[in-house]
Amino acid sequence: MAAARTVIVAGAGIGGLTAALALAQRGFEVMLLEAAPQLEEIGAGLQLSPNAARVLVALGMEHRLKPHVVIPEHLAVRSARSGRLLAQAPLGASVAQRYGAPYWMIHRGDLQAALCEAVAATPGIALKLGTRVEGFAVRDHGVVISASQGSQPLEAQGLALVAADGLWSILRQRLGHRAAPRAAGQTAWRALVPAEAAPQSFVAPAVNLWLGHDAHLVHYPVKAGSMINVVAIVDDDWREPGWNTPGARRELLERFAAEHWHQSARELLAASERWQKWALFDCAPLAAWGQGPVTLIGDAAHPMLPYLAQGAAMAIEDAAVLAACLARNPDDASAALRRYEASRLPRTARVQGDARHNGTVYHMRGGAAVLRSLALMAMGGDRLISRYDWLYGWTPE
Ligand SMILES: Cc1cc2nc3c(=O)[nH]c(=O)nc-3n(C[C@H](O)[C@H](O)[C@H](O)COP(=O)(O)OP(=O)(O)OC[C@H]3O[C@@H](n4cnc5c(N)ncnc54)[C@H](O)[C@@H]3O)c2cc1C
Repeated sequence: MAAARTVIVAGAGIGGLTAALALAQRGFEVMLLEAAPQLEEIGAGLQLSPNAARVLVALGMEHRLKPHVVIPEHLAVRSARSGRLLAQAPLGASVAQRYGAPYWMIHRGDLQAALCEAVAATPGIALKLGTRVEGFAVRDHGVVISASQGSQPLEAQGLALVAADGLWSILRQRLGHRAAPRAAGQTAWRALVPAEAAPQSFVAPAVNLWLGHDAHLVHYPVKAGSMINVVAIVDDDWREPGWNTPGARRELLERFAAEHWHQSARELLAASERWQKWALFDCAPLAAWGQGPVTLIGDAAHPMLPYLAQGAAMAIEDAAVLAACLARNPDDASAALRRYEASRLPRTARVQGDARHNGTVYHMRGGAAVLRSLALMAMGGDRLISRYDWLYGWTPE
C-alpha cells in the first residue's frame, strides 16, 4: 500500500468498518487493524435510525442488510406497572417518508458481519485481525503506528490514523485524554428470546419501551423477526468493564418484581434463561478529539449511554463525514481532520447529553414519574418523533 494514500484505521467495530468502506469509496487505501483474533457475534440488538441508515444505503449496504433487518411499524411507550400505553409514535413507512431513509433494527453481529463482507469485497482495504495498535508517532508526511500481532511487533505508515478502538480506547489516552469513562450506575441485562417462545403480542415489528421504578425495559425483534432482543436496564453500582458477563434470571426477576412490573413484561423476562449483562459508561464530551493527522471516531470519541439508541448511528455518521473531509483535502490530513472534528463535535456532544438526560427521565419515580407519563400522553406520537427531526433528518454535508 502506498503510505501517501493509506489511512490506518484502528478497530474493526461498527465505526472502523464503516470508516474503511467510506474511505475506500473515496479512493483511499485502508489498513484496518483489529485487536480481536476474530470478529465474533457478540452483542445484541442495535437500532439504525434514518440518519445512520442513509449512510449505509449510500455505501451500497442495503442488499447485504435487508435479509437481517426488521422495520419497526411504531414505537410504543408503556407504564411498567399497569402496562398502559402512554404514547405510540409511527415509525416504518411514515419515518422513511419523513426523513428519506428507513429505520432498521438489527443484531450487532449481523451488522458487523455484513460490513465485514463488504470490506472483504472492496479492493483497497486490508483487514488484519489479531493486531492491537498501541501507539503512534507523527511524522512530516503522516503518521507511523506501532502495533503488536501476538508477540510480533508491527510498524506501519499512513497519511492519517483513525482511532476507532471503542469505549476503552488506548489511542484516546495516547492523544492525552486522561479521564477514564464514568460509570452511569446502571447495568443493562440483555437476552435474545426466540420469537416462538415470546408472548405473541411482543413479536410484532415495533420498538417497545416500558418505563418503571428505577428500571426500564426495551424490546424489539431482530434477525428478520426470528428473535426478540430484550434489554432490561436497572440502577446499580456494579461496574465491571465488558459486554458479556453472565447474569442470573432469578436476580433479574427480583429486580423486575410483580409489585412494580406488569405480568406480561415479566413473562418476557422469564422467557430467557440466558442473560448477559454489561455496566454502562459514558464520557463527558471532550473539548477536542485529535492532533495532527490523528483523530477519533465512534465510542473512542464520544462514548454515550444507550438511551437515545445512537451509539452505532453516531459512529456511522462520523465515518461518512471523516471520509468526505479527507477526500476534500487529502494533501493536508491535519486540516481535514480538524474540519471533521469541528463538524462532528457539537452534534455528538448534544447526543451524549440527551442520552444521559433520557436515562434520568426513564427512571423517575413518584410524582415526577406521574408527571412524565402525563406529559407523554399529552404529547402524542407525532410530536414524540418530530422532536427528533434534528437527529433523524441529518444528512452528510
Ligand atoms: C463486543 C461488543 C458488543 C457490543 N454489544 C452491544 C450491544 O449489544 N448493544 C449496543 O447498543 N452496543 C453494543 N456495543 C457497542 C456498540 O457497538 C458501539 O457503541 C457502537 O457501535 C460504536 O462502535 P465503535 O466502532 O465506535 O466501537 P466498538 O463497536 O466498541 O468497536 C471497537 C473495536 O475496536 C477494537 N479495538 C479495541 N482496542 C483496539 C486496539 N488497541 N487496536 C485495534 N483494535 C482495537 C475492539 O476489539 C472492537 O472491535 C458492543 C461493542 C462491542 C465491542
